Amino acid sequence: MIKGCTCCHISLVIQKELFDDRYGYPGKFSLMRCRECGHAFLQHEFTPEQLTDLYSNYYPRSGFDVESYQPYREETGFSAWLDGKKCSAFRWVPKNVRVLDVGCGFGESLGYHAARGCDVYGVEADENIRRVAEKFGFKVHVGLFDPDIYEPDFFDYVTMDQVMEHVTEPLETLQGVPRILKPGGKAVLTTPNANGWGAKVFGRKWINWHAPYHLQFYSKQSMRMLAEKAGLEIDSVRTITASAWLHFQWLHLLTCPKPGEPSDFWAGSACGKQVDFTMAQKVIIRLLGLMNRVRVNHLITRLFDALGMGDSYVFVLSKP
Ligand SMILES: [Zn+2]
Repeated sequence: MIKGCTCCHISLVIQKELFDDRYGYPGKFSLMRCRECGHAFLQHEFTPEQLTDLYSNYYPRSGFDVESYQPYREETGFSAWLDGKKCSAFRWVPKNVRVLDVGCGFGESLGYHAARGCDVYGVEADENIRRVAEKFGFKVHVGLFDPDIYEPDFFDYVTMDQVMEHVTEPLETLQGVPRILKPGGKAVLTTPNANGWGAKVFGRKWINWHAPYHLQFYSKQSMRMLAEKAGLEIDSVRTITASAWLHFQWLHLLTCPKPGEPSDFWAGSACGKQVDFTMAQKVIIRLLGLMNRVRVNHLITRLFDALGMGDSYVFVLSKP
C-alpha cells in the first residue's frame, strides 16, 4: 500500500489513465491529490514481488563498466547555471564535510565529493556500486537506506537525488535522516514538481509522472508537514530543473507509445538501440536537436524556474 501525505483527509483523482510510457510495464494507474496539502500519490497497491518485477524486468540499468567510471566534474559559472546543474542535490554539498548520498547510482557523486575533501558514504540498491566502492574506497551500503547502520549525529549532509518520489512510505524514509545528521546538519532532497508548468501544459504526457515508478509528488505544504513530522525544518525551497529534460519532453511527445508498449525513445534510442523512426520523426528529431543547441530549452527552463514553476524541486532541510 502506498502512503501519500501525512494529513490526507480527502483525496481526489487528478489523473486517471497514466501508464508506463517509457518501458511498457502493463496496467493503468490513477493519481490522487490531497485537497488539504496538495500532495499527489499513485493509487495502487504493489506486492513486494510486483515491485521487484517492475524494477528488475522493466527499468533499464544503463550498461556499467567500472573501467570507464567517471566522477561528476565540478561545474560552475554561466553555462552550469544555464544547464540547471544545481537541480542535483550533490551540487549543494560544500567541501570537506561528511556526506551520505542515498541512491548514489554508480557513485559518480561520491567521486565528486571525495575530490573535494569530503568523507564519503553512499547507499545504493544496484549491486554494480560494489565494484566502484571497492576500487575507490567509498563506504557504500548496498541495499535500502537503513539509518541504524550509522552512528547518531554523524553526517553534515545527507542527499537524496530523485529518490523521495519512489518511496512507498515517505515519513518512514525521512524519519531516519535527522537521527544520523549532526545538529545543524542538512538534508538536500530533489524531486519532481507536479504543480509546475510542465504538468499543467503537457497533462497526461508530462514526463515526470513516470508511472508507476514515481509514487509521490510533494507540494511545498506536504513536504513542510512531512519534514516537521520527521524532525527537520525547511531552510529553502526552489525549483531548479535540468534544461536537458525539456529536450527529453519534446522527444517524449513525439514517441509516446500505446499502453503496454515500450517507448522508441526511452527504451530505444536513449538506451543506444537502433530505432526505425519514420522520415517525419527523423526531421522533427533534427529540428528538436537544433532547437536544443541554440539553447531554446535552456531559456524556457530558466524562466519557469525563476518563477518558481519549474518541473523539479530542491528542498534544503536542516536538523534543529
Ligand atoms: Zn494531505
